[in-house]
Order: sequence, then structure tokens, then C-alpha cells
Amino acid sequence: MVRAEQVWKWFGATDVLKGVDIAVHPRQTLVLLGPSGSGKSTLLRCVNALERIDSGVLEVDGERVGLRERDGRLHELTERELCRQRVRIGMVFQRFNLFPHMTAIENVMLGPRRVLGLPREQAEAEAERLLTRVGLSDKLDAYPGQLSGGQQQRVAIARALAMKPHLMLFDEPTSALDPELVGEVLDVMKDLARRGMTMIVATHEIGFAKEVADTVAMLDGGVIIESGPPAECLVDPKEERTRAFLSKVL
Ligand code: ATP
Ligand code: MG
Repeated sequence: MVRAEQVWKWFGATDVLKGVDIAVHPRQTLVLLGPSGSGKSTLLRCVNALERIDSGVLEVDGERVGLRERDGRLHELTERELCRQRVRIGMVFQRFNLFPHMTAIENVMLGPRRVLGLPREQAEAEAERLLTRVGLSDKLDAYPGQLSGGQQQRVAIARALAMKPHLMLFDEPTSALDPELVGEVLDVMKDLARRGMTMIVATHEIGFAKEVADTVAMLDGGVIIESGPPAECLVDPKEERTRAFLSKVL
């Protein structure tokens, strides 16, 4: 589903990803751990074609991200083709980025209406179903300013799901939340994993990683220093730097 081989990304003279390999199979969850600046967001942004990799191979659903093969050569996708590639990937950020002047249900309906061209009634019914699924059936007509951080993040997840993604990317989705609101968002993500969504999650929530991840990858300085099942990486890490990181976040 997602395959990265020797992915390099640099900004000017700074190497941010230095030969990253990952493989996420359908219906699996990969949790990315790592200190601030280790490259987690950059890796997610590359998977979503928000950044272009400088070297290596990155594929989603067997297609090269941002590239297309024609006449035996690789060509960069046009902006239009990039959009088509991104539509299949849902992304949830630390900040919820909802439209403040639109209600919860309007936020969720917008993409399906504008991008997928769904008729209003169908988009509305689907949005209501998704908001109900994330526990917000009583907040359909609330504006973001009237919702808690945890509720806003759940609207953001429903909005991403409304585009029927094959893959969901989460970039520290709970780190801007008050501690008492973290659980409700993690519960929605656990439910998603249980239903078989393929996910990559950058998070510091070790409990979530232990419970949900099929694989954990520990990034440090743009390199995956350790990866494997949570029962190994999180319980008995081989790398001293993983131990040090875990002792700080636990
Ligand atoms: P955090 O936990 O703080 O979110 P992160 O692991 O997500 O950190 P990234 O945001 O991927 O880390 O950043 C990795 C490195 O790349 C950092 O050193 C950052 O300064 C650098 N970087 C990221 N984006 C850019 C950019 N657009 N231009 C230049 N440098 C960048
Ligand atoms: Mg980040």
C-alpha cells in the first residue's frame, strides 16, 4: 500500500530524510515515533505529495507519488494529476484547520460536493453518518468555535473520511489537545484501525502505539533507527536512543 525505499529529502543544505524505508500493508497501522525535528511530518507530507522527494522510491497503491511513467521515463504529475492522487489519501493535522464560518456538517460535506461532485442530499446524508460515527450526531450544526478541541478534531477526521480515502495520515493529531480530550480522538482512530483502514500515525501516544500499531518506526535525525512490532520496539528496544526517547514521553 505504501512503500518507501531509500527516500531522501533535503531542504537546501539540510538533509531531513536520509534513506528512509517503510512498508505499510493494506489494513495495517504504522506508528511513527521520534523527537521533534526527526522528520515525521516531512515523511507524511512526502507520502501525500505535499513535498517532493529528492531521491529514492515512494509508492502509494503501486503508483509512484508525484510521478508517472510514460515511454519508459518518469514524468512529474501536473497539478491536476497530483490532486487526483491526493484525493485518495486523508490527512489529519495537529491543528484541525476547519473552516470557521461553516458548521460541522458543512465542513464535512464540502470536499464531497466540490471535489467528488456528489449531489447535496447524498453528501449531507454521508456527512451525517460520519459525524454520528465519530460521536457528534448532536453537533451537526455547530460552528468550530462552539466545539471543544477534541470535537473539532473528530470533525476533521470525519471530513477526511468523507473523501473515501484508501489511506489515512495523522500528524500528531492529539498533541494540541487538553489531556482530558485526547482519549476521545484516539478512540475514533482505534475504531478506524479496527475497521481495516490503512494508517500512518505520527504520535507520542505510546499506549495507542502499543494497542493499535502493527509496526512502530522510530525516526531520529531523518533515519529510522529501529522498527518492528510494538511488543519489541516499545517493550524491549534495541537502540539506546529509542530507550531514551521512550523514557521521556512515557
Ligand atoms: P515535530 O515533532 O516537532 O513535529 P518532526 O519530526 O515532524 O518534528 P519535521 O517537521 O519533519 O520534524 O522537520 C524535520 C526537519 O526538517 C527540521 O529540522 C525542520 O527544521 C526541517 N524542515 C521541515 N520543513 C522545512 C522547510 N519547508 N524548509 C526547511 N527546513 C524544513
Ligand atoms: Mg511534525
